[in-house]
Amino acid sequence: MSGKPSCIRCGRCLSVCPLFRATGREELAPRSKSMLLEALDRGYGETPQLSAEKLAAMCLGCRRCLDVCPQGVNAPQAVAELRAVHPDFKTWLWKNALRRPQALFPLVGLAPRGMAPKGLDFSGLEPPSEGPWVEIVAASTCFQGRKAVLFPGCAATSLVRRWRTKAENLLAALGVDLLPADFGCCGSPQESGGLLHEAKASRARFAALWRKLGRPLVATICATCRNGLRQTAEELDAEEAQALREAVTPLSAMLMQSQTRLTDAAPERVAFHKPCHETSPADELWLSKSLGDRFFAPDVGECCGFGGALRLAEPDLAAQVGRRCWDSLTATGAQTAVTGCTACVLALSVQAPPTARAFHWLDIFAQSLR
Ligand code: SF4
Ligand code: SF4
Repeated sequence: MSGKPSCIRCGRCLSVCPLFRATGREELAPRSKSMLLEALDRGYGETPQLSAEKLAAMCLGCRRCLDVCPQGVNAPQAVAELRAVHPDFKTWLWKNALRRPQALFPLVGLAPRGMAPKGLDFSGLEPPSEGPWVEIVAASTCFQGRKAVLFPGCAATSLVRRWRTKAENLLAALGVDLLPADFGCCGSPQESGGLLHEAKASRARFAALWRKLGRPLVATICATCRNGLRQTAEELDAEEAQALREAVTPLSAMLMQSQTRLTDAAPERVAFHKPCHETSPADELWLSKSLGDRFFAPDVGECCGFGGALRLAEPDLAAQVGRRCWDSLTATGAQTAVTGCTACVLALSVQAPPTARAFHWLDIFAQSLR
């Protein structure tokens, strides 16, 4: 990893790292990872296998440290590379998956098709649905006739199929010319598991199919998928990369000009959980428009605790991060959280306090137009 930016120990990353915030443990913070990885690079001493495995798992991949680091130190990328080069990491990953399937439920649910070992198929286990709280009374006409595909992501393809169905119905209501496509994974879950080669292959497959379909609009329903697709653009030439960035569109943005009305089932207060990988304001704006003053977006800045391989290595630690996230949400008075990342919904749902609930924004909309 020589030639990469060096950590200057400024400590800015401490305040944003969910692991440090939840535990106060300096050894889990990004700068400690940077120091350890630098030492590994220089070949200082023997690093016991267990330490390398543990270090490789101790990151949620939220990228929050990257946003604040003045040096551009990419701790999550360095940790992902360590996972990829570690000879036994994949074995260790699946061994832990078999040992702790309950702790792992959301992660296994998201394993791209064919990747989860036998006996760990959780398809059919779905978080509860809700609503409808909102009906679309007149769909936007802005996208009528536009060629589009849906990128449903692994969770809506393999685990919570109602999200895919709902998204397809909403696209039909928008009047788009919906092309059939089977994209597979965005690469993000594979990258989280240290499968960098597989992540690259998934992204190349997506780009090839998108190209073959004539570069249509790509409607997305997950912030983490959008992040994965953005990384696909980094592999393309400048013109095509720009076209792909413009094509990848949150479904919420496509619905924005639609007219909606609240139903009697809508709760009084609904909090927005902002996913770590979200870079578009569209989901938040769409929910604000649809739910009016019942909706608010608290600035809690917490992670759901889902990402990386932490749920396998240290499920209690991942749960601690998730609890902190829920504590921050419920401290605002909200018992209901809505978000736009399929992984966050799964993690928040399995960790919700008894009185609290988490939903994907698709869950709160009526299936079709009135
Ligand atoms: S913000 Fe960057 S430079 Fe500062 S301590 Fe963290 S990793 Fe090091
Ligand atoms: S990516 Fe997130 S969990 Fe990992 S070191 Fe950075 S802030 Fe911490």
